[in-house]
Amino acid sequence: MLFCMQCDKRLTSDEVSIYRRLIYRDAEEYLCKACLAEKMRVTTNEIDRKIEHFKKIGCTLFS
Ligand SMILES: [Zn+2]
Repeated sequence: MLFCMQCDKRLTSDEVSIYRRLIYRDAEEYLCKACLAEKMRVTTNEIDRKIEHFKKIGCTLFS
């Protein structure tokens, strides 16, 4: 099980993947969607949109 390094929320695989995609591919610690959105100064909706986008283009991090 993986947990957000900031708020200890349990992470979904999408949250891990988008963190890797946007921040650091070889990361071993991750942020949940809410903390990642805050860090990037975007909304969680925008994070969701990015996740959908990367899935649609077939990003291997999301397979
Ligand atoms: Zn968090």
